[in-house]
Amino acid sequence: MSFDPESFERGALHETALVLDFAEVPILLVRGKSPGKTLVVTAAVHGDEYEGVRALLEVAREVDPAAMSGDLIAVPVANPPAFWNGTRNSPLDGANLARTFPGDPAGTPSQRLAWELGHRVIARADFYADLHSGGVKWRMPSMAGYDASDPRSEAGALAFGAEIVWGHPDIAPGRTVSFAKSRGIPFLYTEARGAGRIAADDLAMMKRGVINLLRRLAILPGEPERLPLRMRLHGEGNIERGINAPRRGFLIPEVDLLDRVEQGQLLGRLVDTHGRTLDEFRAPCAGVVGLRREFPPVEEGEPLFLIAEVLDVAGFDTMAP
Ligand SMILES: [Zn+2]
Repeated sequence: MSFDPESFERGALHETALVLDFAEVPILLVRGKSPGKTLVVTAAVHGDEYEGVRALLEVAREVDPAAMSGDLIAVPVANPPAFWNGTRNSPLDGANLARTFPGDPAGTPSQRLAWELGHRVIARADFYADLHSGGVKWRMPSMAGYDASDPRSEAGALAFGAEIVWGHPDIAPGRTVSFAKSRGIPFLYTEARGAGRIAADDLAMMKRGVINLLRRLAILPGEPERLPLRMRLHGEGNIERGINAPRRGFLIPEVDLLDRVEQGQLLGRLVDTHGRTLDEFRAPCAGVVGLRREFPPVEEGEPLFLIAEVLDVAGFDTMAP
C-alpha cells in the first residue's frame, strides 16, 4: 500500500497505483528531471465528475518531464468504486468521500480510502488541487474555489486561470482540502458545469489550470497564463447547506446558473406528478445562482440551489497578490 515518489527515477512518467483490497487507485507520477516542489492533483473524489479525470489523463502525458523541476502527482480517479458506479458516493458504504477525511485505516472502505489518499498522497504536496464539477445531477460555475483565510490558497486559485473564483470563509471538515489545510498545505478546488458531460472549455480550463499551477510552483518554467476574471464570489460553498428538497418531487427551476437574484426572488418550484405545486424556493439573500439542480426528479434532502455573494471585480488584478 505504500507509495514513495522518491523510489521512482527522475525525468520520466510512471504509471503506478495505491493498492487497497477493494480498489486500485491509479497514480500518474511525473518526476521532473531536477528536484523541486510537488503538485498533487486529484479528480473523481466524487465518482460522477468527469472533467478533471480527462484533464489529468491528458496533462500527465503531455507535460515534458525533462523540462520539469519537481513532481506532478496526478490521481485521475481518486474514488474508483464510485467512479465505476457512476455515482457521487461510494456503492460500498454509501459514504461521500469528500466528507470522510482524514479517514481511518481500520474503518469502512471510504474511511480507509480517505486515510490512504490523505496520508500517502495529499500529505506530499507543496500545493494541492482537487478537481470537482457539478456531477451528473447538478451544474456549477466553471471556477476555482479557495480558502479565503489563506493568501497562498487565494493566490493559487487566481493563478489557476478560471474566469470565476469563489472564496470561502470556512472550510467544512471531512474534505480532501480540509485534510490539506490541517497539514498546512495550501490548496484550491474546482467546479465545472458537470451534468454528466465534459464541455470543451471546461476541459481546457482544467488542463490550463494544472499547467498554470506547475508554473506557479516553478516546476515548469514560465509564468501562469493571465486571463480576465469575470466574477468573484464569496461565502458558503457547501452544497449540503444550500436549499434542499424537503420532499420528493419534480423540479421546475425559474432561474439559470449564474443569474443575479434579489433576496426573496423565486428560484424554482417542486411539483408532484399531477403538476400541483408542493414547494416554492426563494433566494435567502441577494447574490448569484452558484448551483442549480439539472436532473428534474429529486429525492428528499437533495440540493437544489445555492446562492453566492458577489464581490466587486472591477480593477481586480487576477495575478495578485
Ligand atoms: Zn465533487
